[in-house]
Amino acid sequence: MLLLNNSTDKERDGIFLRRIAIFCLVGCVHFLLPSVLAAQSYGPPFIPTQGTFRVLAVFVQFQDDTWDDPCPSDSLLGWPSNRHSIPKWALGEKFLAPKKAKKYSEGSLSDYFAQMSNEQFHFIGDVFPILYLTPQPFAFYTDKTKHGRGFLSTQIIDWLDENGVDFSRYDNDNDGDVDFILFLYRHWQHKILTPGTSYQGISGFGFSKSITKDNKRILGRFPGSGTMQRGNYTLPTSRSIVTHEISHYFFGAGHYSSIGEFGIHDGNAFCYAMSGYEREKLGWIHPIEIKRDTLLSIPDAITTNTYYKIDLPNSSDYFLLENRQRISIFEKGDCVEGELPARGLMIAHIRPRASKAQQITWIAADSTFSENDKGEASDALRAGDSLILKPLLHSRSGTAHDQLSIQVRVLRQKANRVIVRIKYKPTVNQ
Ligand SMILES: [Zn+2]
Repeated sequence: MLLLNNSTDKERDGIFLRRIAIFCLVGCVHFLLPSVLAAQSYGPPFIPTQGTFRVLAVFVQFQDDTWDDPCPSDSLLGWPSNRHSIPKWALGEKFLAPKKAKKYSEGSLSDYFAQMSNEQFHFIGDVFPILYLTPQPFAFYTDKTKHGRGFLSTQIIDWLDENGVDFSRYDNDNDGDVDFILFLYRHWQHKILTPGTSYQGISGFGFSKSITKDNKRILGRFPGSGTMQRGNYTLPTSRSIVTHEISHYFFGAGHYSSIGEFGIHDGNAFCYAMSGYEREKLGWIHPIEIKRDTLLSIPDAITTNTYYKIDLPNSSDYFLLENRQRISIFEKGDCVEGELPARGLMIAHIRPRASKAQQITWIAADSTFSENDKGEASDALRAGDSLILKPLLHSRSGTAHDQLSIQVRVLRQKANRVIVRIKYKPTVNQ
């Protein structure tokens, strides 16, 4: 659970815009404790990870939301506050494709999940064409005792119903529950809808009693019928927060808190593409095992789905190697965010049996990666860089005598490939 620096004054100050945007974009408090416990009783993933999954996306703006800064005010790439209709970047099939297809609009959510899943998961759906402009100002909904976000969610659901939405379209598995609605708020102030906490998005709608529409139940708690999120100023910022909130339906409560900007399940970092570990967990990629000294030519991970893993003897731990070349559209940013912070070979230390927060961390080329680090250029190994992996030191287990160490050296870069030499060496401890 991560709380934000929730100074709205800073947020309004253009000087701080970029820094605040980076810091806050996906910071979130997602769950109330009872829902966490309920969620863990049967475990994630809570939505399918294969096949076609249809969702409903609804854009929402508070009537007194006039917050604009250079990026949101761009009429094509942003979402100006005075537009009072859904953003241009969400029109047509730019945000969601209505049908399963071989190819989706580049950069859309459908394109994102098709690529991350290696074409196994088709995240499609309908964008409701009308903006929900709240009939009351923001302050009306922030009074928890009378109104709150749960109240607002029910108001929007009633409005969708009156405006012809057939909720039965979104029960993909036909179990009687609406599977997924995305409430995409333009902006809200940090302190907001649940007083005392602040978040960019939340995996639930804030009401406890289910609502029935078209003979389908809409569930307001997590895991329930979707997510709500603010800060949908541009397509990349929207994709960042939406993919993060969806990641809770894949991986449950809590975060991979040392994944930084190289994955989507950190909770306090901008989300570009998914990490190899996240993709592997969902069965979307299958890393190639390395067992002995070898020379590898590793292509870009995101665009080729190629990963290598170094298994460790007598351990469930392993190292996952991915070449992140920042050539995918999902590793590029926009006027709010920059691009993926590093380019080159990334090495993740995976500990599947550790607590969730500790399951993945990066072994930075410059040895400086920490939980507070979202990622920096010096994390990746570039031509000429090498490091020694010492599994027993990393796994914190046992007493070591003949300890294995593995040298990883990037010999050179050839176009978008990195040429990597892996060399095993037994070393004798004192
Ligand atoms: Zn989160």
